[in-house]
Amino acid sequence: MLHERARQLAGESAFDVLRRAQELEAAGREVIHLEIGQPDFPTPAHIRAAAARALEEGHTGYGPSQGLPELRDAIAEKAGELRGLSFSPEEVVVAPGAKALLFYAINALAGPGDEVIYPDPGFPAYQSVIAHSGATPVPLPLREETGFRFDADEFLGLVSDRTRLVILNSPQNPTGGVLEREDLRAVAAAAVENDFRILSDEIYLHFCYDSPFETIASVEEAGERVIIIDGFSKTYSMTGWRLGYALLPPSLVKTFDLYNVNIASCACTFSQHAAVEALRGPQDSVTSMVAEFRERRDYLVEGLNSIRGISCGTPGGAFYAFANITKTGISSAELASRLLAEAGVAVLSGASFGPCGEGYIRLSYATSMEKLRSGIERMANLLGKG
Ligand code: PLP
Repeated sequence: MLHERARQLAGESAFDVLRRAQELEAAGREVIHLEIGQPDFPTPAHIRAAAARALEEGHTGYGPSQGLPELRDAIAEKAGELRGLSFSPEEVVVAPGAKALLFYAINALAGPGDEVIYPDPGFPAYQSVIAHSGATPVPLPLREETGFRFDADEFLGLVSDRTRLVILNSPQNPTGGVLEREDLRAVAAAAVENDFRILSDEIYLHFCYDSPFETIASVEEAGERVIIIDGFSKTYSMTGWRLGYALLPPSLVKTFDLYNVNIASCACTFSQHAAVEALRGPQDSVTSMVAEFRERRDYLVEGLNSIRGISCGTPGGAFYAFANITKTGISSAELASRLLAEAGVAVLSGASFGPCGEGYIRLSYATSMEKLRSGIERMANLLGKG
């Protein structure tokens, strides 16, 4: 018999839809993939070369559980520069993906009797892992009217003396929303007053198109309460290399290290050598990818707004459009499944990111302009123009 805890784990629609789309492809259909959240660019050549070198040099064994010292040095320096803050290598823990670190953070800080506030719609692992930890997931609604930021009063109304952790994700998956300084200040002030920690998932920080990235760690009162989670998957097109890191208050470092020891021993060693090159080497691939994504975003949003029943605001960040489909009169799940079956366009139902995502679909624009054009055409053929 499965333990109740294990029953709480939920899947991720991106992987489910990808599998269904691939089955259609195996049966001869051509599918436009707007479901999966990974850059369509290959990992830059100089990073691949660094991994090949690391393999040749024999870096194929276990490494220190907290992460290679040279990688932790590079992370402390570069992650600090990006955020205008200073971090020491001792505050860095490297793990097999940002996802692993989310799991560590939630389980280290919350359990039965506790509450964890998380964004709805939001990255599915949050709700799933909170429930798995035994804590109560408390969804924080994000609404289109405010560019998918949260309402500060509504947020304060959700905070209780059981709140142990608040999860923020900006730029956000799935809405592309970006939080503003006043939002961060409201959370920081509440954290001090109610003594909770903040998990800031900053995996999309480079994908900010209209305003500079801001981290809650730079709000002074937040100080020691913030756990920053970031990684290499999105910025350097390294989703398969499984590498993420946390910037932690010193009191949490040992515990995160112990999660690594017990779960993974360490992150993949040659991936870590390549990651040093990713951080210290040329950054032009990042700059050009972000510029390309910005163009795609504008193209996709315009295209979506030309389809009958669909409206879409311009997301400030990440690489997703979260389109309002209420006027089609079709539910999110049904529209997503019809778009795949009838038009060969794979998108995700907004409801798969939480109840507040009903009435929306998520489209990833981490794919070529040509594919986006074809996706829009196919959707317009199914739903009509206007
Ligand atoms: N956090 C968010 C908000 C994401 O969208 C993703 C991936 O889609 C992750 C974390 C996971 O990143 P990683 O590949 O480093 O595990």
